[in-house]
Amino acid sequence: MKNVAVFGSTGSIGRQTLSVCANNTDKFSVYTIVLGSNYKESIEQIKQFSPKNVGVYDREAAEKIKSVFPGLNVVSGDEVWDLAADSRVDTVVNGVSGFSGVFPLIKAINAGKTVALANKESVVCAGEIFKNALASGGGRILPVDSEQSAIFQALSAGRRSDVKRLILTASGGAFRDLPIEKLADVTPEMAMKHPTWNMGRKITIDSATLFNKGLEVMEAAFLFDSDAEHISVLIHPQSIVHSMVEYNDGSVIAQLSVPDMRLAIQYAMTYPERNASPVEPLDFAKIAGLSFREPDFDRWPALPMAYTALKTGGSQPVAYNSGNEIAVDRFVRGELKFTDIPGCVEYAMNKIEMIRISDMDTLLYIDSEARRLASEYIPKG
Ligand code: NDP
Ligand code: MG
Repeated sequence: MKNVAVFGSTGSIGRQTLSVCANNTDKFSVYTIVLGSNYKESIEQIKQFSPKNVGVYDREAAEKIKSVFPGLNVVSGDEVWDLAADSRVDTVVNGVSGFSGVFPLIKAINAGKTVALANKESVVCAGEIFKNALASGGGRILPVDSEQSAIFQALSAGRRSDVKRLILTASGGAFRDLPIEKLADVTPEMAMKHPTWNMGRKITIDSATLFNKGLEVMEAAFLFDSDAEHISVLIHPQSIVHSMVEYNDGSVIAQLSVPDMRLAIQYAMTYPERNASPVEPLDFAKIAGLSFREPDFDRWPALPMAYTALKTGGSQPVAYNSGNEIAVDRFVRGELKFTDIPGCVEYAMNKIEMIRISDMDTLLYIDSEARRLASEYIPKG
């Protein structure tokens, strides 16, 4: 029996992680849940899973939970991150959204835990810090992001030295086929309608801009020790081929399934076992077709910007990520058009102080600078 800590339990990844635990009660016990402020949903989760520890970032929401469950250990504020290092926890699932995912990841790795990692923002922003922590802390990361899970699985087919290229697939998001001139007028509600995946708000908007794919290019470089020259992206509208690895002999190994995150979550949690899952099997005879095309950089400037950030390193990936977090918020609030998002991020990337990021203080300073810059950006015309 593994004790699991679910960070981001009230989000899309968190809920699906809890459903994996509910389907495998002989293997997983939900020892800890951590959330931001959605105490109403967490009350139901506490009733169903009886966790020993609950972390609620928002202090008022934490007080409400304490009043409903007086005997329960409930912590709040920055103390919630310490729950990732609890000696009784075996596996930490990091499904927190945004930059905050850095905190449970560093605590878990330093404590030698296995982390099922959905939060990509953390490793994009703090690659060097996590590489050092992994080398000395003894922890390990197993990918949950479906593309990285696919590559992780495809890499087991050959030797690392025989890999020619990692190929990430992207659905293209909500506006894949919308005429480019109409992109300026799309609303946040329209951006929230993902064609194939059901996910949280930010990642769904990032799927439409392809900032999500840009982050995944950098995530793949971190996870698989690769670089910008050996990672490419293809638009694949059906989201059936989750990503591929091309080997030197020309063979391409891919991982396929219906788009359902429970599969990648369960694989990361049970690795190297493959247990039965409720995920619908793939019926090849019913698939109308699998198509692939090169991404259009004019439609999705986020992609070339990600390659620039990856090649440059230092503060650039942080400016890319945290600038985008602010730009998405400003788009949702109606301050920016959809087509202003890349310009806002580019502004932060151009103005950010260029330094190496090898400690948390520098990371936090550059993150706040990137947010300040993206907040002050005024779109032209
Ligand atoms: P959601 O927005 O649905 O959920 C985010 C979760 O994080 C919520 O439980 C939220 O709590 C919690 N949270 C936010 N801020 C804090 C904080 N400061 N302290 C504690 N908890 C916090 O996001 P998703 O589940 O869609 O995505 C989570 C991560 O997984 C992202 O990094 C995303 O890129 C990645 N990912 C997601 C996929 C998906 O299918 N959804 C696929 C691949 C990767 P509350 O609700 O209480 O505010
Ligand atoms: Mg993904």
